[in-house]
Amino acid sequence: MILEKYSIGVGDRFGHQGAAQLQALQQAHQRGAKIVPVWNKSYREHMIVGTKPGDTRIAADAAVKERGWRDSYYVDADHIGLKNVDLFLESSNFYTLDVADFIGKPAEDKEMEIFVRSMMKFVGLFPLAGVQTTTKVTEDDLHAIGKKYLFAAKEAGRIYRHIAEKNGEENFVAEVSTDEANEPQTPAQLFFILAALAQEGVKVQTIAPKFTGSFLKGIDYVGSVEKFSTEFEEDLLVIGHAIKAFNLPKNLKLSVHSGSDKFSLYPLINRAVRKHDAGLHLKTAGTTWLEELIGLAMAGGEGLGIAQEIYAAAFSRIDELCKPYETVIDIDRSKLPDPQKVRSWGSDDFACALRHNQADRRYNLHFRQLLHVGYKIAAEMGDRYQHMLVKYRDTIGQNVSENLYKRHIVPLFLGS
Ligand SMILES: [Zn+2]
Repeated sequence: MILEKYSIGVGDRFGHQGAAQLQALQQAHQRGAKIVPVWNKSYREHMIVGTKPGDTRIAADAAVKERGWRDSYYVDADHIGLKNVDLFLESSNFYTLDVADFIGKPAEDKEMEIFVRSMMKFVGLFPLAGVQTTTKVTEDDLHAIGKKYLFAAKEAGRIYRHIAEKNGEENFVAEVSTDEANEPQTPAQLFFILAALAQEGVKVQTIAPKFTGSFLKGIDYVGSVEKFSTEFEEDLLVIGHAIKAFNLPKNLKLSVHSGSDKFSLYPLINRAVRKHDAGLHLKTAGTTWLEELIGLAMAGGEGLGIAQEIYAAAFSRIDELCKPYETVIDIDRSKLPDPQKVRSWGSDDFACALRHNQADRRYNLHFRQLLHVGYKIAAEMGDRYQHMLVKYRDTIGQNVSENLYKRHIVPLFLGS
């Protein structure tokens, strides 16, 4: 199973927006950009929403049928590890092996010795053409890299072999993620992480490092755009070198776990990918759920009512909702509108405060982040919420498609 050059992770928490998402991809296809969908949903999201991995597969298959989608599509067991991968084996054909928690755990002395010895021959490849942030690598550097990343790479190997044993190596796409680590990985570190993965026999097709800067949920990038730009381009070059040096899959590409809506990075990612003729996987998730809310608000009546109700409940349960997302949100509570006031808002007021349009002075990124983590409230509403999604399907779908196409696909894959 070979993942296409361009793919996009389209999370869909409640499993109703697949067709609207595909519509955006079909629109891109008409303009010449072939991008395949990957429906990603993590164990954490399944737990909070109360769904099972098989539900994602059912929703994906139904959307594909409805839109007459003829290209490949994938269902991603997002951020899984050995402790929960089994739940996904029946329904997923894409696995994001998350080994961030294993970074810094010591590998055995003997394994370290083998790693360092086997890597010495690659030290001579430095400086890698085009990679300026690391000009040389010493034996000490290899020790430091091994100490930090070797155990994690071996853990990826354990998960990979487990999936391969159950489902067959040819029947799934493997992504390895370290994006939830505490510190970013440098391009040179990425090179040796890929080496270690190759030694483990992991046929990694996409890799999601932790980039410099903050990737908070649902809002724009926070950090130095220039620094990110240099790092991203060097990562692309490193991947090119690693494919050859370690005989990794030729379609290996970078995966950006965006947390959705990194608008200030999209143009430079587009330029870098074009310049190096590289592939790209971009993972989003929450942006679609927020468009559901915008669609409900825009629909007015009961739709607006339920959106206001979700906000009021999220406001009163803020600590609980933010806890699982502590490191990836940054809400200034003093900037949150009073729920009483939000009750008096019309469709436009609600939609404009929530919609990610930085040019609109009504846009409130604190309001947006709180609602981003507020999907648990909607999940608890059960059938009542699902019924609203059906009732206001058209308005919601329009917002979901337009958001994905105009704000994400166009700047990322089409340029303009
Ligand atoms: Zn991630």
